[in-house]
Amino acid sequence: MNYRIPFHKPFMVGKELDYIAQAVLNGRIAGDAAFTRKCQALLEHRLSAEKVFLTHSCTAALEMSALLCEIAEGDEVILPSFTFVSTANAFYRQKARLTFVDIRTDNLNIDEAKVADAASDATKAIVPVHYAGVACEMAAILDIAQQTRSFVIEDAALSMNAKYHDQYVGTLGDFGALSFHETKSVISGEGGALIINNAEFIERAEIIREKGTNRNKFLRGEIDSYTWVDVGSSYLPSDMISAFLYAQLESMDKISRRCKEIFDYYYTSLLQLSEDGHVRLPSAKGKDANSSHLFYILLENEATRDALQEYLKSQGILAVFHYLPLHLSPIGRKLGYEPGQLPVTEEMSARLLRLPFYYELEQSEQEEVVSWIAEFFKRR
Ligand SMILES: *Cc1c(COP(=O)(O)O)cnc(C)c1O
Repeated sequence: MNYRIPFHKPFMVGKELDYIAQAVLNGRIAGDAAFTRKCQALLEHRLSAEKVFLTHSCTAALEMSALLCEIAEGDEVILPSFTFVSTANAFYRQKARLTFVDIRTDNLNIDEAKVADAASDATKAIVPVHYAGVACEMAAILDIAQQTRSFVIEDAALSMNAKYHDQYVGTLGDFGALSFHETKSVISGEGGALIINNAEFIERAEIIREKGTNRNKFLRGEIDSYTWVDVGSSYLPSDMISAFLYAQLESMDKISRRCKEIFDYYYTSLLQLSEDGHVRLPSAKGKDANSSHLFYILLENEATRDALQEYLKSQGILAVFHYLPLHLSPIGRKLGYEPGQLPVTEEMSARLLRLPFYYELEQSEQEEVVSWIAEFFKRR
């Protein structure tokens, strides 16, 4: 089905196509060629990060972090259930014991008090997910990690450019994972990055990312030939992908400004409906706000949410919801989780609706989305 106002649309902001042509003409389009290195340098500089490795997805970056932490059978990993499947799967595939904890009602981030309750000496890693451009309570989480001597891996797929106090998210824990999937704010179709904040892990990360070989050392002329030295997989993007991404990264400020305009417009024009008690708006207004590419509203209950979604569809507008709580997925159920165990996650997931949001979304289209939402409540 084609929507008049789709939920999402990929976009170009600058020299994407030029750079792809350049990558091809450079004669090297596999991993770690010129554009990949440029992207990494730009991100390291911009985020003040120790080291950034581009990957072919955020999923890959999370998998790399699981390998670097040596997550093994039975190790406990604490994470929210209100997140994308990859946050969990990266550790599940290492046979970790997943402890899902509930989220906060105000910003839908992992509840640091519940993390503290769950954490113990058996905890090997904590994975906060910064939802919708708002940072988790990192001071508390880092404190818990220090006490239990566990790793912190930040899933920043939905929050590139967001800060916790004066530091970019993804640079506070041991590792941070970014996504450049076409549905995120800065895009390259598929794409991601692993941020490494603990220099001890850089060398091993380089090997794991290159199929478990020391090929990078070889390319730098440090050794005469390269060989198999560790576990690993192929986690590099092609330089053509990095070329597209580089153009987007160069325009990051422009993209952020546009995201903020879209966010602010929705926020301001939905305020009346919020005051009338029909919708709850994100709490991210003001100082925390918000370079995210995502705007959600919370409806009174699941039935209203579903009815509003249907109504917007009938007007040619696609609004979607996520995430279905992971603890209630078939795998979550197999792990022994049951409905009622994470009440905030279950409630918020049932009430949440994401509105159309993309770089080229026109203000007139936003106006239309908002006025159909208002119309929906008028008719009830
Ligand atoms: C999108 C997303 C991912 C996965 O990103 P990919 O780049 O598609 O692998 C992981 N975590 C969260 C929170 C996401 O929203």
